[in-house]
Amino acid sequence: MDVNSSIGCSVTECQYHAGKSQHCTLDKIMVGKNESYTSQSEDTDCESFKVKENKTY
Ligand code: SF4
Repeated sequence: MDVNSSIGCSVTECQYHAGKSQHCTLDKIMVGKNESYTSQSEDTDCESFKVKENKTY
């Protein structure tokens, strides 16, 4: 998988995480909110997240 240096990410549990570097490997991601009104970063989520199947992290 190619590293997308434009998308930094520390979610190593995701199957799209680059592994060696703190980046995503997707060409683009979708970021959404998990509250009806978002006022802080904690209210946002990467909706492209998919958990690793082998869970080797
Ligand atoms: S899909 Fe989202 S959570 Fe997964 S590696 Fe990419 S940016 Fe991170």
